[in-house]
Amino acid sequence: MIICTLGIFLSKSYQDSHSEGVWKMVVAGDMMLNNVSPAVPVFGKWKPVKESVFYANLEIPLTDTEKRTARKSAEEIARRDQFILKAHPGHIRNLVNGNLDVVSLGNNHAMDWGSEGLNQTIGLLNEAKIPYCGAGANWKEAVEPAVVTSPTGIKIAFVSHLSFLNPSSLHKCTPATSKEPGIMVLTLRNKSGQEEFERLKRVVDRAKSKADLVVICPHWGIEKQPKPAPYQVSMAHLYIDAGADAVVGNHPHVLQPAEIYKGKPIFYSLGNLVNPGGGITAAYEVKYREKEFQSMTFIPLRYSSGRIFPRR
Ligand SMILES: [Zn+2]
Repeated sequence: MIICTLGIFLSKSYQDSHSEGVWKMVVAGDMMLNNVSPAVPVFGKWKPVKESVFYANLEIPLTDTEKRTARKSAEEIARRDQFILKAHPGHIRNLVNGNLDVVSLGNNHAMDWGSEGLNQTIGLLNEAKIPYCGAGANWKEAVEPAVVTSPTGIKIAFVSHLSFLNPSSLHKCTPATSKEPGIMVLTLRNKSGQEEFERLKRVVDRAKSKADLVVICPHWGIEKQPKPAPYQVSMAHLYIDAGADAVVGNHPHVLQPAEIYKGKPIFYSLGNLVNPGGGITAAYEVKYREKEFQSMTFIPLRYSSGRIFPRR
């Protein structure tokens, strides 16, 4: 296994190639826009070019509902063991202005304001024509991949799920059921490698039946940890073994390493893309020729008060 720290990994940039079949995907971390006015130009100083396929994790409902989830208790919130977040619905304009092509919702905040919050967020994304994955009105909708087409005509299916190991933590985040809204959850169960492989392969095969490439976006790991937990590495490798083309993880709020495993990129955590505070972060530009992964380029960024800036 080759794991390099993000700061030194493939930091060289390359000239734009106009070769036939070349296209680029930009992958980034968690977007948290609580306490940020929708008038703030989140992507005013940095955004990917419109021609690239831009993915980030929307770690917050865009809603003005007042009915919050009952699964995170007042005591847990007071102890700061749990957080309930929401952002102004007007932030949908910032997502459009940022050239976002697809967002994941399979995270620990999508259901903070229950089904009303989820419905409002999904309604805004639908109106803005930004595909999403990882949450929905029931399990069938929550597991549905979001399919995006590159400018060269390659179809990419994105799958998003919450993958915490602790069942009670998963429960607090409202997994979807056959009849109830919620998020997709999927995590390793300490079964044999073969059983786990087959479970993940079913997810990959389903997504691959709708697209040329499959990108898995697990929301996982331990907050503030600069290294992936062993289960993140096992799960990412199993996903690639099962035929996934990339794994783009989020949740720890800090950057974790990236690696190329069997010729496919894995990003264990891309940290925060933006939040109301400040810090340094990064995104990656991933280059493909047709369906073949070519290279990845580190994009150094920083964020401050809900805005994203290039970092030099
Ligand atoms: Zn999270």
